[in-house]
Amino acid sequence: MDRLAMNGGTPVRDQKIYYGRQWIDEEDVREVCKVLTGDFITCGPEVTELERKLAVRTGAKYAVAVSNGTAALHCACIAAGIGPGDEVITTPLTFAASANCIRYCGASPVFADIDLETYNIDPQSIEAHITENTKAVVAVDFTGQAVRIKEIREICDRHNLIFIEDAAHSIGTKYEGKEVGSLADMTCFSFHPVKTITCGEGGAVTTNDQRLYERLILAHTHGITHEEEFMEDLPHEGSWYYEQISLGYNYRMTDFQAALLLSQLKKLDFFIERRKNIVKKYDHAFRLLPELRIQKEIPESDTCRHLYLIRLNPDHLTCTRRQFFDAMAAENVQCQIHYVPVYWFPYYQKLGYQKGLCPNAEKIYESIISIPLFPKMTDQDVEDVIHAVRKLCANYSKISE
Ligand SMILES: *Cc1c(COP(=O)(O)O)cnc(C)c1O
Repeated sequence: MDRLAMNGGTPVRDQKIYYGRQWIDEEDVREVCKVLTGDFITCGPEVTELERKLAVRTGAKYAVAVSNGTAALHCACIAAGIGPGDEVITTPLTFAASANCIRYCGASPVFADIDLETYNIDPQSIEAHITENTKAVVAVDFTGQAVRIKEIREICDRHNLIFIEDAAHSIGTKYEGKEVGSLADMTCFSFHPVKTITCGEGGAVTTNDQRLYERLILAHTHGITHEEEFMEDLPHEGSWYYEQISLGYNYRMTDFQAALLLSQLKKLDFFIERRKNIVKKYDHAFRLLPELRIQKEIPESDTCRHLYLIRLNPDHLTCTRRQFFDAMAAENVQCQIHYVPVYWFPYYQKLGYQKGLCPNAEKIYESIISIPLFPKMTDQDVEDVIHAVRKLCANYSKISE
């Protein structure tokens, strides 16, 4: 058996590989430079074109580009009319922004538990947490796999709730053949560099509902409108005139970011193929290892995976998750953990959320590790990661003892 790098053996690879990274090529750079030397670097034609293309790609009627994925979630909560006294149900196994957006509006996140096999929010747990104050659901397509949209839609309709989908991980995923982005009341995307396509910082909200669209527009541009039909008090004075009709934010995307994202969007299908291909290789390599569990997919989701999680099986391993993680790093495979349950953070603890709230999410958190997954990985990179995981499983296996 190969000695672990952690114990003085030779690492599986010389160069460190990280769990995710962007792929920006010369064409992307050219598209950005064109805009930088042009007339508009913000509020110009690239953003308009990006919104059009995002709507076409996702099959949604409307898309609003914003400054990042967190702003997208905040705008969606504003458009949903969420405010103090309201409760919004979300998952704890997510990036903090999925819950913070609810706090921005003065409302309370309520954490529903997850499914132990898919790691996505469990519709039954959503239903169990509904009260007369519940206003919306923020469901996260964790790792890129679509949530149980049909079941959640049905629950939201029955209880008159707004369905917000946090699709920061899931651009390119389809649910029952339809693109994520056209299915919930509002769908929020992130274009941070670790996500499937990027423009540095960036985000978008898509919707099919004209009323929500109008509110999203106001939310991301100071609550200001130039359109006479929305103006309330003052008479229209001249073509310069605009009116602030609500309290909004400056959450706009710049034109050079939009140009970068338009260029990245052209490569989305290629990125999806690469990611799917790597996931297939990982699944094949890990499926039969008793030391590991792999994430279960629901048949409705045709997933473009953003993250690949291995789950350690403590019945078959002599090491802790921490030891496995550190041993991978010693092999020069730098993993990550997605995520610490949101309500474990001191901010939420101080608000009164108790540990133990969502046992499934806590159990999964304690045994998962995200291994590298990004389109720019070479076949050798993929082999190295598989080799490192196998090497650790062999060294830490209870069976081989
Ligand atoms: C990345 C991410 C966000 C926030 O997106 P930013 O663009 O970083 O603001 C929100 N939710 C989830 C699940 C994410 O992974």
